[in-house]
Amino acid sequence: MAQKFQSTFFGGLDVDFEHDAQIGAMTNFAIGGRADVLVTPHSTDALSQLMRRCHNSGTPVHILGKGQNLLVDDIGVEGVIIKLDAECFKTHTFRRNDQQNTLHAMAGADLATVLMDSTRRGFEGLSSMAGIPATIGGAVRMNAGGKYGKISDNLETVTCLFANGDLVTYLASELEFEYRTSSLPAPVVLSATFEVEEADPVEVRKRVKEIFKWKKTKQPLADASAGCAFKNPINASGERVSAGMLIDQTGLKGLTVGGASVSEHHANFIVTSPAATARHVIELMDEIQARVFDATGIQLHNEVIIWSKDEAASR
Ligand SMILES: Cc1cc2nc3c(=O)[nH]c(=O)nc-3n(C[C@H](O)[C@H](O)[C@H](O)COP(=O)(O)OP(=O)(O)OC[C@H]3O[C@@H](n4cnc5c(N)ncnc54)[C@H](O)[C@@H]3O)c2cc1C
Repeated sequence: MAQKFQSTFFGGLDVDFEHDAQIGAMTNFAIGGRADVLVTPHSTDALSQLMRRCHNSGTPVHILGKGQNLLVDDIGVEGVIIKLDAECFKTHTFRRNDQQNTLHAMAGADLATVLMDSTRRGFEGLSSMAGIPATIGGAVRMNAGGKYGKISDNLETVTCLFANGDLVTYLASELEFEYRTSSLPAPVVLSATFEVEEADPVEVRKRVKEIFKWKKTKQPLADASAGCAFKNPINASGERVSAGMLIDQTGLKGLTVGGASVSEHHANFIVTSPAATARHVIELMDEIQARVFDATGIQLHNEVIIWSKDEAASR
C-alpha cells in the first residue's frame, strides 16, 4: 500500500509526504497508531489536485487539524491523511471597513493564535473560544463552543474544497451549524471569515481571561484528553442535559481501563497516562455508555472522533 502511494501517487504534486506516519502521536491524547501516509500540501492548488487524485482512485481521505478532538485507533487508519500545516494554510488577516470589520483565517491557523491577535488589536468576536484548542478548520467543522458561545456565532463565510477539487464559498446562513456539528457539504474547510467588532483591547482581554479562567476551573486542560468524550444528550423531556453530570451521577468518576480514566475533575473527560492505548479509551467509552444507559436509560453519543482501520470502531 505504502509503495503504491510512493511510486505513482504524488508524482508532480507540490506536497511533502510521509509513509507509515505516527499520527496518533500528533493528537492531544498522544496515543494510537499510524496512517498509511500523511501528506502536507504546499498550496491550495496542490491540495485541490491531491483531493482529485484521491477521489479518482477511491482513496479514503481524512483531514487532521490540531488533533484535539481525535483518537487514532492502535491499528491505525487507512488512506491519505492531509495536514494543512504549510504556512499558506495558517495565515489570518483583518479587514477594517466602515460597515463591518472582518477576520479571514485559513483552516490550518491555530485558533488560540488568531484569538490572541484579535484580542491585541481590540477585535471582539472570538472571545468565547478562549481555552478551546483547535485549528480554524477543526473548530468550524465541529462547531466548537461552550457556555459562552460557539464559533458559528460570528461566522460569515466558509470556503470548502470538494473531493473533485472544486472550491466553493458558502455564506454561513446557507449552512446549518448545530451542537458540535456542521452541515458542510465538502470534506475540506479551506478558510473562513468572521464578523468582528472593534472594542477596547483591555475589555476584550479581560473577557478572554475570564472565560479561560472559568474553563480552567471546570476542565482538566493540562491532561491528555480529547476534551468532552460525549455530546450532551437530549433527555425524555426534550432538554439537553450534561453528559458529565450523568456520568458523575452514575458514580463513574475515576473508573479506569488500563491507562485511561474518567477524570475526577470533569466526568465527561477521559484522561490518559503514558501507559494508555487507544483501545483502553475505546473500552472505557463503551463501558461508560453501557453503565449510563443502564442507570438512566439515556444513550450517550461520542463527541470524540475515532479513526480506525476497523470500520466498526470508527465513529
Ligand atoms: C483540553 C480540551 C478542551 C476542549 N474544550 C472544548 C470546548 O470547550 N468546546 C469544544 O467544542 N471542544 C473542545 N475541545 C475539543 C476540540 O478542541 C474541538 O473539537 C476542536 O474543534 C478540534 O479542532 P482540531 O483542529 O483539533 O480538529 P481535529 O481534532 O484534528 O479534528 C476534528 C474533526 O474535524 C475535522 N477537521 C479538522 N480540520 C478540518 C478541515 N480543515 N476541514 C475539514 N475537516 C476538518 C477532522 O477531520 C475531524 O473530523 C477540547 C479539547 C481539549 C483537548
